[in-house]
Amino acid sequence: MGLFFGLTEKLQEVFKKLRNKGKLTEEDVNAALREIRLALLEADVNYKVVKDFIARIKERAVGQEVIQSLSPAHQVVKIVRDELVSLMGGQSARLNLAPKPPTVVMLVGLQGSGKTTTAAKLALSLKKQGRRPLLVAADVYRPAAVKQLQVLGEQIQVPVWSRPGNPVEIAASAMHEANHKGYDVVIIDTAGRLHINEELMQELEEIKARVKPHEVLLVVDAMTGQDAVTVAETFHQRLGLDGVVLTKLDGDTRGGAALSIRAVTGCPIKFVGVGEKLDMLEPFHPDRMADRILG
Ligand code: GDP
Repeated sequence: MGLFFGLTEKLQEVFKKLRNKGKLTEEDVNAALREIRLALLEADVNYKVVKDFIARIKERAVGQEVIQSLSPAHQVVKIVRDELVSLMGGQSARLNLAPKPPTVVMLVGLQGSGKTTTAAKLALSLKKQGRRPLLVAADVYRPAAVKQLQVLGEQIQVPVWSRPGNPVEIAASAMHEANHKGYDVVIIDTAGRLHINEELMQELEEIKARVKPHEVLLVVDAMTGQDAVTVAETFHQRLGLDGVVLTKLDGDTRGGAALSIRAVTGCPIKFVGVGEKLDMLEPFHPDRMADRILG
């Protein structure tokens, strides 16, 4: 089975039909594009994104060059691959590290998106690269969230900064601690809510203004499809995101979030979560993702 439930299989079917034809007419290419369009819509990719994507492929694939080439089907597959890569941002986007440590990474997102787990995963990955991360528990509304981060911190042997009081002060005191003790990356796990609300946004804006993070990362659950895209749009408008972490890509997700977020919001996906375990966070590579989607 392909990466995204159903999508890989459908695309492969379309390409197989093209290959079986040998020579292609313009109508063959158009028919294939109609099927690709449907497959993407069924994968819950944003309607406008699909429309533009198909238009770009059409522009490149319907020309005489492709149709008259020795392997037209191969050319079409190549164009689709190129456009998938560019849809997901082209280049891999890296974490912004501060020229002068500590680098401050602020993780934001809705409750249940995988934010706390991602904070620990990121800390572990940075630790493996020889850095000294400090995790910060700034979700003071759910005592369980603080406890969860402490448990994860213990598992990976990364200290967790937690204090009673307000999240802005906690984040600020964590900066002090990092400067004092030489931690070079401060990862702030902020509060999540079940839904976006004004209070949450204001609090995040205040933390951002106070600690001036080098990287504001939004954590979204890939399983929520277009809802994840809407969440990303809203957070980006309010906070100015530097990137997105797409979690639960190991589940039965259809691909809509992965293929739409960059095009809709302009924010790059920087990491993907591919499992519950703490070493299951990967940098996001648009080209490798496109290859996995094509199967
Ligand atoms: P938070 O409320 O946003 O802090 O979410 P949590 O970090 O508590 O995660 C919610 C649930 O999602 C937990 O059961 C995590 O183990 C799970 N989770 C997080 N990331 C992933 C992932 O990439 N894959 C899978 N399968 N589960 C994940």
